Amino acid sequence: MAEAPKAPITQDVLTIPRKIPEGPANLIGMSREQMRAALIAVGTPEKQAKMRVGQIWQWIYVWGMRDFAEMTNLSKDFRAQLAEHFVVALPEVVSKNVSTDGTRKYLVRIAGGHEVEVVYIPETDRGTLCISSQVGCTLTCSFCHTGTQKLVRNLTAGEVIGQVMLVRDDLDEWPTPGANKEAQRLLSNIVLMGMGEPLYNFDNVRDAMKIAMDPEGLSLSRRRITLSTSGIVPEIARTADEIGCMLAISFHATTDAVRDTLVPINKRWNIEALLAALRAYPRLSNSERITFEYVMLDGVNDSDADAHRLVALIKGIPAKINLIPFNEWPGAPYKRSSNNRIRAFSDIVYAAGYASPVRKPRGEDIMAACGQLKSATERARKSRAEIAAEAGI
Ligand code: SF4
Repeated sequence: MAEAPKAPITQDVLTIPRKIPEGPANLIGMSREQMRAALIAVGTPEKQAKMRVGQIWQWIYVWGMRDFAEMTNLSKDFRAQLAEHFVVALPEVVSKNVSTDGTRKYLVRIAGGHEVEVVYIPETDRGTLCISSQVGCTLTCSFCHTGTQKLVRNLTAGEVIGQVMLVRDDLDEWPTPGANKEAQRLLSNIVLMGMGEPLYNFDNVRDAMKIAMDPEGLSLSRRRITLSTSGIVPEIARTADEIGCMLAISFHATTDAVRDTLVPINKRWNIEALLAALRAYPRLSNSERITFEYVMLDGVNDSDADAHRLVALIKGIPAKINLIPFNEWPGAPYKRSSNNRIRAFSDIVYAAGYASPVRKPRGEDIMAACGQLKSATERARKSRAEIAAEAGI
């Protein structure tokens, strides 16, 4: 059936004028080409610019160096010139909480005083970093705490890749110059599953992930990067073409009626339209499967009938189904499904031939559910402010 014409995507964020920061430009987040142009603009001879970019790139993204004075293979004059025009600056860590299970959750401040969350999850064979792409979110998925926070703005490419760099700082995993740069990989995987819808900030997310994948820099394989979307259908093919990373879908329901409530963007691109886009996903293969994320909500989407419908819907798509026990937050309108229910659901999916790992809740003691830490911190600040007001301070 032909799809009804859709209204164009409009986003408040695109119309909010951004103040151009004054002062030295930040090299973090620039592509190689942008960095080259920036160097030439401050007087680097064109013939040298590409080589200079290579050198600076290595200092920043291989060795984690921030201070131009320490970039010892550059001439003193050139280092002084760099210091005059540029900075190498990351978002600021406002708070860090470490769970008893080793999960680290950071609240990070970006330009304008806005805050986003970053979560590092260590596992035996990998260390996964969950990063944010927007401050707040335009979408209002009803199970998601971030969905209760208004969209403020898109993150810049520098702010997206900056999250990866600051966690590498915290893990102390920048190698010493001259040492084997592959020796440590505490941060081995990136998931774009934090605050925001990454496909509504496509260009900045793409540019940041290109920096992450640069083989002479952070050098993360595209297969170690997973972008999670709620289903922005027109951008799905672009993700394969322009980023080439793995794809995860916030699926969460097996009927349009339920998905309309849980993931309201479904009203614009329904399950049928979404699955058609996924079937056409250019990189699909058995070794590059799409992950379907499915949050288990008691009595909402967790019945045996749902499990059977789910496997029927995704038939033919190389897929893995990630069952997520709901991480309840204060005031959440849902409850987590029981362990028995999750197991029964998982058994049906598994019997149909799909891997269906149940995600182990991580960092519950530090409010690792997306969006929770930011709200809690805001509440704490408010009450401190109220106390101060009452005390006449
Ligand atoms: S699940 Fe993702 S897209 Fe939906 S409201 Fe939360 S952050 Fe936004």
